[in-house]
Amino acid sequence: MSEQNLYAVIWDVDGTLVDTGELHFQAWVQLAQDLKMPFTRDDFTATFGRRNPEIIGALFPGHTPEEIAQLGEQKELYYRAEARHGIDLLPGVRELLDGLKAAGYKQALGSSAPHKNLEMITEITESLPYFQAIVGMEDTKRGKPDPEVFLVAAQRMGVPPQNCLVMEDAVAGIEAATAGGMKSIAITFVGHHSEDSLRAAGANLVVPSLEGITVETINRLLSRS
Ligand SMILES: [Mg+2]
Repeated sequence: MSEQNLYAVIWDVDGTLVDTGELHFQAWVQLAQDLKMPFTRDDFTATFGRRNPEIIGALFPGHTPEEIAQLGEQKELYYRAEARHGIDLLPGVRELLDGLKAAGYKQALGSSAPHKNLEMITEITESLPYFQAIVGMEDTKRGKPDPEVFLVAAQRMGVPPQNCLVMEDAVAGIEAATAGGMKSIAITFVGHHSEDSLRAAGANLVVPSLEGITVETINRLLSRS
């Protein structure tokens, strides 16, 4: 099959595939307590979806790159300890993963999270077999809204960017999809971003959840016949 006939869906993870927001919030609070620094809900909302080095640099300034890397690892240790208590796929996700697989779509994860988190999430939710590529924090130099994470995922699947559709919950992620020449669906279920801001970032469709979204919807957005 030629590349032009291949199509793919690239999934953001946090807030799109699963809701891990509260787990991340609690992990940042624990890290901030170690540093005797504040960490508020507003800090969380302002930084959610960004890569750890950027968040730590903004909120806990004055550390060397090595210290920043260590603090990021400690935060992820706290996060994975929280997550072991349970994570579920968000509404409609499993049905769509199944439908897309049956329809011959390639699927990937495109996330700002480290690979250990992605391994844990795909293991707990039993979703690993759906994905032909998993792109995480270690695979990119620039975080969303730079399109790098999605372009790397497309390249690894061998699918041209214009045949890719991105699932996202965040404005920075929709901007990344748009910058990469990809279509996108924004999901407001977790609700960090307004419908207007997601549309302005280039989302082709904004939905409250993926319940009721079918392969036909995605075929139409990608002009796949
Ligand atoms: Mg997200």
